This record gives sequence, C-alpha cells and structure tokens, in this order.
Amino acid sequence: MLESVIGLEIHLQLKTKTKMFCGCATHDSAVTPNQNVCPVCTGQPGSLPVPNEQAIRFGIRMGLALHCRIAEASKFDRKNYFYPDLPKGYQISQYDQPIASDGFLTLGEKRIGITRAHLEEDAAKNLHGADGKTYVDFNRAGTPLLEIVTEPDFASPQDAKAFMQELRLIARYLGVSDADMEKGHMRCDANISLRERDAQGGIVGMELHPKTEVKNINSFRNVERALQHEIKRQTELWNAGSPPSVSTTRGWDDATQTTKEQRDKEGEGDYRYFPEPDIPVLALTDMAERERSRMPELPAAKRARFADEYGLRAEDARQICDDPALADFTENVFSELQAWLESQTDLDAEGAIAERRRLANLVSGWLLSKLGGLMAERTIDIRTCKINPENFAEFITLIASRKLNSSAGLVVLGTMLDDGSDPSHIMEDKRLGAIEDEGAIAEIIERVIENNADMVERYRGGKTELLQVLIGQAMKESEGTVDAKIARNMLLVRLENA
Ligand SMILES: [Zn+2]
Repeated sequence: MLESVIGLEIHLQLKTKTKMFCGCATHDSAVTPNQNVCPVCTGQPGSLPVPNEQAIRFGIRMGLALHCRIAEASKFDRKNYFYPDLPKGYQISQYDQPIASDGFLTLGEKRIGITRAHLEEDAAKNLHGADGKTYVDFNRAGTPLLEIVTEPDFASPQDAKAFMQELRLIARYLGVSDADMEKGHMRCDANISLRERDAQGGIVGMELHPKTEVKNINSFRNVERALQHEIKRQTELWNAGSPPSVSTTRGWDDATQTTKEQRDKEGEGDYRYFPEPDIPVLALTDMAERERSRMPELPAAKRARFADEYGLRAEDARQICDDPALADFTENVFSELQAWLESQTDLDAEGAIAERRRLANLVSGWLLSKLGGLMAERTIDIRTCKINPENFAEFITLIASRKLNSSAGLVVLGTMLDDGSDPSHIMEDKRLGAIEDEGAIAEIIERVIENNADMVERYRGGKTELLQVLIGQAMKESEGTVDAKIARNMLLVRLENA
C-alpha cells in the first residue's frame, strides 16, 4: 500500500513597520512602484545592512510558540543566485545557525516536527508589462520573512492544510503577521513523496524517496488540492513501475488545477552559502527570555480553557478562538455573566454546573449563529460591531431568565446591532418583553380565534395541521412577545372547547 509523506516550507511575512535590513517602510504601504526604496534594499555598492530588531523579536516569538529551541548565537548568511529581482546577486538568509530549531506543533493527536525557522529578506517583484517589457518593482525587496520548515510528518493533504490554518492563527495571536495567504503574507511550498508499506505496516524499500517540491501555493484550499493532485500523479507513476527517481520542482497552476514541472532544483552547493560579513553574530539569550515572559495565551490553550472554564462545547470554543477579537469579546461576556451565575444561589452544585452549561450554549448559539448571521448580512464583524460585551451579557441573561423569547430576542439583537443601545431599553421601547400575564395572552388568543373563524371551523372539522398557522397568528398578533409553547397550550384548550 502506498502512503504519502509530506513536509512544508512556509514563508511568513513579518508585520514590521520597516524592512529587514534598512529603514524603508514595508511594501504594503507603497502606492506606486519603487516608492519605498533606498541604497540598501536596492543593493547599491557600499551600502550596509542593519538587522531589524522587531523582526528578530517576531521570529523568536514564533519560534517559542512552535516549542523551538532559540539559538544562543544566530548568524546571517548570503545565499547566492542570479535573478533580476535580486539586486545584490544574493539574498541575506540564515544557513546553519537559524534563530529557531527543533520544535513541534500538535494538531489534535498528531505532532508535527518543526525542523527550523529562519529570518531572511524577500526579493523584489518582476512586472511583465503590456508592452512586452519586464519591469522590476523594488518595494518588496528586503521585506522581512520568517521561513518555517517542518519535518515530513504529514500523512495527508488535510493535515497539511490544518497545520497552515493553525500557523496562521498563531501568527495572528502573536501579532507577528497578518498571515493572509491571498495577500501573499503567507506562502507555502510543499514537499511530497510516496512510500510503500506491507500488510504488517512495515516500510518496503527506502524510508524516504526523492521528493517533489510544489511551489507557488497561494491559498489553503490549494494546499490541499495541489497535494491531492501530486498524490494522484505520483501514484500513477508508482503503479506504472516508474516512481520519481530524482527530486524535482513543480509549480502549482491555479488555472488548470495541476502541477507543472519547473527548472531542476539547485542543490545547496549551487547557492555557495557563506556568512554575511557585514552583520555580526546575534546573541539572542536575553532577548529570548524577555520574549518568553511576554508570550500571550496561544490558540490551543485558549480553546481548552474556554471549554473548561466556561463550559463551552469543544467545537464552539474552536470557532470562537479562531478569531482573536471574538475570543476577547466572549471572554468579556463571560466575565459579565459571572455575577449573574453567582446570583443563582438556589442551585446545588450539580444544578450550578448545568446552569453554567446552559448559559454557555446560549452564548455560543446567540453569538455564533444569530449575531454571526446578522453581522454577515451587514458585512461587519465583531471589531466593527456596535454591541459591547456588557450589553450582550445582559441580553443573554434576559434570554436565560425567559424575560425575552427567541423571536423577540432576534428583534432586540438587530436593534442593538443598529445603534449599540442596551437590551432592556429596547424591550421597553418596543414593548418586547415576554408577556407573562396569562390574562393578556388569553386576550390575544381570543382575538386570533375571532379573526380566523374560518380556520377555527376547519380545525374543528379535522384539519389539525392548521394549529401551526394559528400559533403563528398569535405570535404575529403579540409581535413575538408570547411564549410559543404557552400560546399553543392555550389555543388547544380554546379549540377543543368551543
Ligand atoms: Zn531600503
């Protein structure tokens, strides 16, 4: 049986204000080509690179999040090759002393080894003009990148995609990168080979076969697709008795959804790596300790805590923690709800746990599906949403104590979203509180019976499915303020007793 062996190389653009080795602003702020350039990032003779301290801190932070060892001494090297978008004729990168190495990231039950993470500068960008000429835009030249290399520990394209998504989330939690693949803040090359296992699970032949490197993967979806395509292509080669015998490089072609062979991969020797003589060795121990003490809570820890502390379902906790701003909002909501939970003094220990769980489910239901839906309709998100955590928590207590039913709740939530007002005021304004007075509900039911005499007659004649329509009428009559269950029961009593 064939199995796939996959490793990833990810380039993460660090969110610094200036470039890796000069004071130019990074290219995201540039409006016109060759706007953010200077002698250093255009490789003028005699110019000297000065490493960006913030980029080094960001690299260390990411290394710590990936459980890496941070180098006590780290240095920069020149990686030599010739290409029009590389003004110096070499790229400043890190060869044998990267800032971080030997780490891992757990994905559920799986542990993915991190070989290394090193700093380097991005190249410029070639622009192919309509006039048939190629132009070079140096705005991107010198942008700080962190290259993260994994062990070949992925057994499936899905795992590779899940890893990329977790990496993006970690980068966002740490504030080191926006990690937006569509904007090129995160780029991925994937290495893949196949190998054979016998029926007992033993590896047949070589453990690792010559690999194919797939370049230019520009979205999470394409990470999965490109690898699926390669597995299919290589499986056919294996089945034909001619598995890949040398390492090759292929590019992902979005238009045809296939990979195409590119130039043969240069060996390390071709790059003639040597130490960058203009930058001293970096002593990182103190900086690493400072960064370690400043590390925020990471997504995996936050998800576990949200489930444990607040009683959220694992899947809800995951969805909430996928957005750092939503996670902060939720945290504040639960801290507001704590007082309300503590006021429920008539509950025993078991009842308190059940109540906490009920509240957690109300929060996730109203936050993710209902508020999430309303925000999606208005193309806003939690950052631009006018509802503050205090008001949302108050809203949840109104629902939890059944002072507000769900259809009236939706109206209140919509108004809160419009103007940021608090739910109690909206309920008073719109008279949306649940009608608890049975006399008042009875009056509404009476009006429904009177206004729908025809339907009532047909119901009594055996068309019992009309009950739903009549309940609907009662909800409409009360503008959603009666409890549907109570309306149903009272309607049944009235309909059965003419
Ligand atoms: Zn510059």
